[in-house]
Amino acid sequence: MLTQKEGWIEVITGPMFAGKTEELLRRIKRLEYAKKNIIVFKPLIDGRYAENEVVSHNNNRTRSINISKGREMLLHIQPETQVIAVDEVQFLDAETVDILDNFAEQGKRVIVSGLDTDFRAEPFGFMGRLITIAEFVTKLTAVCVKCSAPATRTQRIVDGKPARYMDPIVLIGASESYEARCRHCHKVYRKPKSIIGKLHVK
Ligand SMILES: [Zn+2]
Repeated sequence: MLTQKEGWIEVITGPMFAGKTEELLRRIKRLEYAKKNIIVFKPLIDGRYAENEVVSHNNNRTRSINISKGREMLLHIQPETQVIAVDEVQFLDAETVDILDNFAEQGKRVIVSGLDTDFRAEPFGFMGRLITIAEFVTKLTAVCVKCSAPATRTQRIVDGKPARYMDPIVLIGASESYEARCRHCHKVYRKPKSIIGKLHVK
């Protein structure tokens, strides 16, 4: 009989405020107790909290290495590395998916957290592909700020109003905030008519 091989991909996903980083840190902590050789990465763009640390909204934390492209992980991985964790993985480049896939092929356990949708409720970059090749996917929900239903989407608010469909991801000089919302309370204004037409069958 063949010996079971190690190596797979776990994705923790959902909207903002769903506790994705908290869940990532929980899994890392358990593997630390199990004396696994772990390396944690986070995108350089994510400077919300401390440098060289992944920090959750509950202020749990672990040491991490800042990277701006997935390929940079290759400089840090050792043959003895058993677990590779990445927070906010959606901010890295598309090649990251192939690199993580390769780690899993080599027998390493890959655990990532990241947004599944952007503010338009459309797949966030390569996340759809990553979720598809992952063995284990945990989709967390937040609480809708409008109606308290399970929230699966991230509402973007620009200057006090729901963001428009065509708004760029980065808006210079506008005041922006984000809220967790359910499907029914999530708003994106001025969706192009061509898309709406395709969605509604008369
Ligand atoms: Zn709602």
